Formats: sequence, structure tokens, C-alpha cells
Amino acid sequence: MNRFRSIATPRTLGLAALIWAALTAVPALAQYDQPFQQGESPELTEKRKKMVKWLGESVKGITPRTLSAFDAVPRHKFMKARDLDIAYDNKWAGIGFGQTITNPWMVAYMTHLLDIQEGMKVLEIGTGSGYQSAIISRLTTQTHTVEVVRALGERAKGLHDNLGYTTNIKHRIGDGYEGWEEHGPYDRIMVTCAADHIPVPLIQQLKPGGLMLIPVGAHFQKGNIYLVTKQPDGSIKRKVVATGTFVPMRRTDLFTKDD
Ligand code: SAH
Repeated sequence: MNRFRSIATPRTLGLAALIWAALTAVPALAQYDQPFQQGESPELTEKRKKMVKWLGESVKGITPRTLSAFDAVPRHKFMKARDLDIAYDNKWAGIGFGQTITNPWMVAYMTHLLDIQEGMKVLEIGTGSGYQSAIISRLTTQTHTVEVVRALGERAKGLHDNLGYTTNIKHRIGDGYEGWEEHGPYDRIMVTCAADHIPVPLIQQLKPGGLMLIPVGAHFQKGNIYLVTKQPDGSIKRKVVATGTFVPMRRTDLFTKDD
């Protein structure tokens, strides 16, 4: 006891805290952008490499940095076990609670368009499976994600914890129409459910010069995906960059069944 006291001075404690901070920071940085390696079958590794290759060929202008995020994140872990065979195909799939994981081409295209640079603050609306936020978290240390279905938001957080991504991702359960003001403003906002208009709180939480991607459309019908740019004077410019069908933005959690 006495011996412990004699070494536990404020100086040594400060030094120990510094060493601890350095040691815990290293694994988080070391796995950044690294291909996924945690004991999966060679077949799955091979399938993911193939997916990364065709994403590189089919998403015009996608950078090697963005592609490396797709190599780093094991998509199959974000899907139901029954869908293991199609995890690296260009398919969306049900994830329970009436929701879906977006197909990889669309995730890659939207990630590419957002042009996420290291250190940028990013907000995602619609955590869903957690796959898109996992991808974003390989490109910047400041990812925020909001999900309205509690069971999904909690499951995604658990997955992110298991994969060691949590240091880069903050999770919130709630209505993403309102954004997440506490952590804003954001350099980038990605909305992965379709609203029938662009929510004003999201425009307010975007930095001048910032970009937002948002699908706008009627429930379960093909809608336009807008790339919204906030001008220095706070006004917005928007252009249609693609069309697609997304699950609707809902204002409350109606789903409790993991079907
Ligand atoms: N980005 C997800 C895609 C999930 S689909 C992925 O990578 O898997 C869209 C998600 O938006 C669904 O999980 C749905 O529950 C969620 N959602 C719908 N309305 C919402 C709202 N108002 N706020 C937050 N999330 C919402």
C-alpha cells in the first residue's frame, strides 16, 4: 500500500494517463482503412475483393481511399445470416423491422459523391444496419448517425462496438428529420431514407460550403437523389444526381418485429 502511494504521485499518474491515451489511440488508427482480417473464410474475403473491384470499375471517379473503406468493412456482418451468400452481390436485403440495407453500388456512389475527407464532421440519417456509417467511419473520425427504430439503432451500435468502430461513431435514437443539433454543424450529411421534402433542420445544420445527399420522393416510389450544396450566404443549390427507391422517412418508431 505504502509503496503504491509513493509511486502514485500526480506526475506519474499524469504520465500513466498519457501512455494509456497513446496506447488506446494506436489500435483505432492502425485499423483505419485496413482490409478486414478478423478470421473469416477465404471465400468471403475473395468475394469482398471482387465487390471492391467492380465498384472501382462501375462508380466513375471513385478514389482508392473510398474503395479501401469497402475492403475494410465486412458487409456480411451487417446482414442476416440467411443472406450470407449474397452479401457481396449488388443487392439490397431485409434487415428486420421492415427496413433494408442499401445495395453496395448505391452506398459506394453516395459515399463517393459526398467526398468525405479526414477529420470532416459527418451526419447520417437512417443508421439501419450500420453498414453505411461503418464505411463513413473509415474515412473520417467524426461520424454521427441517427436511427428512428430503437431496436435497429441499438443493434448497429453493438455491431460497431464489436468491430472496434465506436471511437469514430456517435449513435442517437430519434427522429432524424430534426438532425442532431448538439454536434452540428456538419461538413457532410447523408440521408438514407426518403423524405417528401428536404427537412429545414438538416439545411440549418449543414456548414456553409457543406454537402448533403438526400433522396426525395413519395413512399416506396422511385425518387430523386439530390446533392445539396450550402452557399456561403446560407442559401442552397440542389441538383439531381440519381434516382432510386429508398424506405420512407418516418417520424416515429412503429417497428418492433425483427422479421
Ligand atoms: N444506411 C442504412 C440504410 C437503411 S434504410 C444502411 O446502411 O443499412 C433507411 C433507414 O432509415 C431505416 O433503418 C429506417 O428505419 C431509418 N429511418 C426512417 N425514418 C427515419 C427518421 N425519421 N430518422 C432516422 N432514421 C429513419
